[in-house]
Amino acid sequence: MSLSNDVAMQVAISSGLIEQIVALAAAEPVREVCGLLLGDRTSIADIAVAANVAADPARTFEVDPAVQFAAIRAARAGGAAVLGCYHSHPLGSTVPSDCDRAMIGRIGELWLITDGVSVRVWRANTLTSFAEVELVEATAGCVTS
Ligand SMILES: [Zn+2]
Repeated sequence: MSLSNDVAMQVAISSGLIEQIVALAAAEPVREVCGLLLGDRTSIADIAVAANVAADPARTFEVDPAVQFAAIRAARAGGAAVLGCYHSHPLGSTVPSDCDRAMIGRIGELWLITDGVSVRVWRANTLTSFAEVELVEATAGCVTS
């Protein structure tokens, strides 16, 4: 499977990983928490927790660049791909904000947003807009190829 650039509009994630992200957000009710989503084209397999280094972490987020560089290096060395990022909205929305739309880095990246209760995943379909991605339960222990 190498011919297309398109990204599945459905992505698998384990309930355990969702619970981990929700718990991280719930533990920081006045700051946005953030990190990276790792996996492959069809599934979010892991996260890299990062410090939020934004100037105003109550209202926005910026993933610690050191974590980003480390993840990119690991991916190039054969590790999981960096699919996108997750962050929380302490004020309780799982929809991308205007600020989020302005921070899209590349088309196709995945953005998981949690309000500390539930999560939704969005895919950047242009450099200024998102489309929601359907989440499906990951099958434990499933290894491709
Ligand atoms: Zn946001």
